[in-house]
Amino acid sequence: MKVPVVEKILSANDRLALENQALLDAHGVLGVNLMASPGAGKTSLIEATIDTLAGRLRLGAIDGDIATSLDADRVAARGIPAVQINTGGGCHLDANMLKSALPDLPLHDMDLLLVENVGNLVCPAEFDLGEHLRVMLLSVTEGHDKPAKYPLMFRTSNLLLLNKIDLLTYCDFDVAAATATARDLNPAQTVLQISCRTGDGLDAWIAWLEARVAELRRT
Ligand code: MG
Ligand code: ZN
Repeated sequence: MKVPVVEKILSANDRLALENQALLDAHGVLGVNLMASPGAGKTSLIEATIDTLAGRLRLGAIDGDIATSLDADRVAARGIPAVQINTGGGCHLDANMLKSALPDLPLHDMDLLLVENVGNLVCPAEFDLGEHLRVMLLSVTEGHDKPAKYPLMFRTSNLLLLNKIDLLTYCDFDVAAATATARDLNPAQTVLQISCRTGDGLDAWIAWLEARVAELRRT
């Protein structure tokens, strides 16, 4: 009797993503793919993370953008190694882009890699980069309907950060509704409220990162 064999055919992107993750694993570096719409505060989160983490974890960053190196310049000005990927108009990062950027980072001197994806709520979620974890940043100025409208990104993220929480009184953002929709899509997702501007909630974000780095080291 013939037994049907179902093989998982890996796409070219998935194969490169596995190579990237193996490289990160070999150096004990936790890779985090940070996704959000433009203006949600991705670069501000990286800056705030550098300032809050100072001396606790060794950080490096890759900034993806359609054009300019403005974000990587901001991050590098904080004194951590940073590489800019210009996608030349492309609306997401892919594993091949990450693979070309990784050799420019001192992985042997890093614990954590934050990858700022291109600002876009759609296709970044479709491309595995080789990251260990995905973090979704949603600012309260964008509206609480976003998890329902862009489900894939929220479904595949390990952590949802609700940013600009200091502006909540000026917005009609319903935190409970956004949290409930995100948890419906992904029950395992952790949701934290933060403000990169005031620093509110950043301790919980840092504690989450430190716990994930410690987990990676145990494996
Ligand atoms: Mg940015
Ligand atoms: Zn795209």
